Amino acid sequence: MKRLTLKFGGTSVGTIEKIKKVANIIKKRHAEGNEIIVVVSAMSGVTDELNKKSNLISKDFDNKELDVLLSSGEQISCSLLSGALLDLGIKARSWLAWQIPIITNNNHTSSQIIKIKTDEILNFISKKGVAVIPGFQGISPEIRVTTLGRGGSDLSAVAIAKFFKTDSCEIYTDVDGVLTTDPSINKKAKKIDKISYEEMLEMSSMGAKVMQPSSVQASMVNDIPIHVRSTFSEKSGTKIVSENEADYKKVVTGIAYSKSNAKVSIVGVVDKPGVAADVFEPMGKNNINIDMVIQNTSLDGKTANITFTIKQENLKKTLNIIEKNKEKLNYNKITHDDKLAKVSIIGAGMIASPGVTYRMFRSLAEEKINILAISTSEIKISVLIREDLTQKAVRTLHKEFELD
Ligand code: ADP
Ligand code: ASP
Ligand code: MG
Repeated sequence: MKRLTLKFGGTSVGTIEKIKKVANIIKKRHAEGNEIIVVVSAMSGVTDELNKKSNLISKDFDNKELDVLLSSGEQISCSLLSGALLDLGIKARSWLAWQIPIITNNNHTSSQIIKIKTDEILNFISKKGVAVIPGFQGISPEIRVTTLGRGGSDLSAVAIAKFFKTDSCEIYTDVDGVLTTDPSINKKAKKIDKISYEEMLEMSSMGAKVMQPSSVQASMVNDIPIHVRSTFSEKSGTKIVSENEADYKKVVTGIAYSKSNAKVSIVGVVDKPGVAADVFEPMGKNNINIDMVIQNTSLDGKTANITFTIKQENLKKTLNIIEKNKEKLNYNKITHDDKLAKVSIIGAGMIASPGVTYRMFRSLAEEKINILAISTSEIKISVLIREDLTQKAVRTLHKEFELD
């Protein structure tokens, strides 16, 4: 007998038919004699719809109320799935996050899980019950509903695996596992059998939606192996494991992309110590995430141009902040560019293989794809390009690094 965490994403419970299919998968795993805790997302599209409704009320909808609203999608799928299991003759029941409780901090819309109470559910599953828990939801010390950030059911699953000490953490989704790139943009994407936490963290942070970045980080910190697999096929899926268990046959393991990026350049700022801090401090205070940063100094060393990228949705706010600080920053002008994408190649294998950077840039150049900015880490190279060239760039790099 094993104790399992089985997480089903929104794409796996998107219709009543799919919920019935999921109930049958759980039935099979239960019949094998396992103790089962199920984590379920909202039916696909539901959270987006709820979000749209809040926007119709106000563009600045209250965060605490937004959490109450967005978390409701998981309540629906939780009860539907529990009902489907009961209908198959399986002892099952749902718990909402506040009933368990799943305690988070009060960082509304992107809370962190602090603690999960386990005794009642452990007792239930030890008596052959299947516990069905909503992903994404929590409750703060102030007894207010919280959520874990978009895609946060993955994080709920990792936390359940940790606090309930389950033998496995299985993420059921609509693709065969983690692939070399997003199959919706490149049909030649291939399944990766094993990937290290580090590479997966880079993949998901760079846009591979299949796992939410903070869930990968939580699994890495707590050394909880993850099994990403399909709800709709019996294929073996992908194991996300520690570095020493992964094998690096290829220089590049995968390619990720994120769209809707914008680039801002502040031209001709007086180059003195503290200027970059002066530029970025008000952004941090306004919760604007800065991604790539490039600074270049004029030949006489007196002025600098500071270029950085942000999400497109923050462009207006960012430009306003910079304009408000014009006197302090003492710049010449600001230019900006939106509808940009970031395309990244990821692979621990590149540490030991010189020439990867050159191959990436050369292959993009041959396709006439202009690079607007570059950033690197030990196991990743990202380039900023025009958004309409994303698919072409991903396909070119996929081929160049022999992933087709
Ligand atoms: P779920 O509803 O199960 O949480 P998501 O929609 O969040 O599923 O994630 C699955 C989707 O992630 C896939 O349908 C696929 O289009 C996308 N995706 C992006 N990059 C990758 C990748 N490298 N491997 C697999 N899927 C990816
Ligand atoms: N329903 C939430 C979302 O769409 C959480 C999740 O699906 O993981 O972001
Ligand atoms: Mg997801």
